[in-house]
Amino acid sequence: MKNDKIKTPYYLIDEGRLLKNMEVMRLVRERSGAKSLLALKCFSTWSVFPLMSRYMDGTTSSSLHEARLGHEEFGGETHAYSVAYPEDEIPRLAKFADKIIFNSASQLERFHAGLDGKKLGVRVNPGISYSHFDLADPARKYSRLGIADLKTLRRILPLVGGLMFHFNCENDDFANLAKSLDHIGEKYGFALKKAEWVSIGGGIYFTKKDYPLEAFCRKLKEFSMKHGVQIYLEPGESSITNSAELVCRVIDVVRNKMDIAIVDASAEAHMLDLIIYRLSAKIASPGPGPHKFMVAGRSCLAGDIFGTYRLSRRLRVGDEVRFADAAGYTMVKKNWFNGIPMPSIVVKRLDGSLETIREFSYSDFKNAV
Ligand SMILES: *Cc1c(COP(=O)(O)O)cnc(C)c1O
Repeated sequence: MKNDKIKTPYYLIDEGRLLKNMEVMRLVRERSGAKSLLALKCFSTWSVFPLMSRYMDGTTSSSLHEARLGHEEFGGETHAYSVAYPEDEIPRLAKFADKIIFNSASQLERFHAGLDGKKLGVRVNPGISYSHFDLADPARKYSRLGIADLKTLRRILPLVGGLMFHFNCENDDFANLAKSLDHIGEKYGFALKKAEWVSIGGGIYFTKKDYPLEAFCRKLKEFSMKHGVQIYLEPGESSITNSAELVCRVIDVVRNKMDIAIVDASAEAHMLDLIIYRLSAKIASPGPGPHKFMVAGRSCLAGDIFGTYRLSRRLRVGDEVRFADAAGYTMVKKNWFNGIPMPSIVVKRLDGSLETIREFSYSDFKNAV
């Protein structure tokens, strides 16, 4: 299929680019001994799992559906975590998950008896974090994410074999991470001593260009030796970063003190985190130049804006626009706001061929509302 025959809008996942991240996953495991589990809440597009599962050890999930998908389509180790499980999900979860991680002492104490033989863990809130946004800060005031109280942790420790600390978000600062690990090692040494495994969560930007991988691996190895634990990483964004684009087309150009190109996609519906975190999309094409344009979505939300750019050419109706870095927290969050056609999902395979793996229609909309 030739590229220009695919109807916009569509997400385009490039397996060649994905492979670059995957090679880092493999290297980190080889050098540090830490295992990497894909965080499905960031990216669940299972058509590329056959490639990813060759480099990563399994998946971690936020719900029964994700745990099941990880078990069915990714394989390897399936970790289940949820902020809270409804009681009826527990027996079904036990079918799919190798390890079940509870967010609270109360859930662990209520449900552990029915999970004989399962590996259990708890999430700990270490009271430190790295995040640019209060909204995504697990150590924010009154956070419900994980056990914060040391006395409570000591009480339930005999019931678990592992601990999960998720305290980073897009952390590309290795010195900060190293300091946090030292802090965790000191404060939770008593618990780590009893644990077989520890997950240090997601949000560590170790696939980013120029990340100090050698030092990172050394630190992980040192932590794991010192405390006698198997380390797990739960990369979401860093597994898939830079591996997809949202490809769309200009359907109108209007002017209100500046030129505004309206495309056949929507930030509010298809790249929702831009709106939530008030960010601009990175534009992959057209390239940079002198022509200033706002690029906006076609929903009726006034602030449905991808960004304002200086481009190499003036945008006209019919022109293609590509937004970069469109894999994480996009396909899993897309919605039917305004009834706007949902972007298809297209995969560029390693051999260069393009495969449309998902198309959405009026009946998908009708069944979802
Ligand atoms: C969100 C989340 C992740 C993945 O985070 P990224 O920032 O996408 O790497 C991993 N583990 C847990 C517990 C999470 O909540």
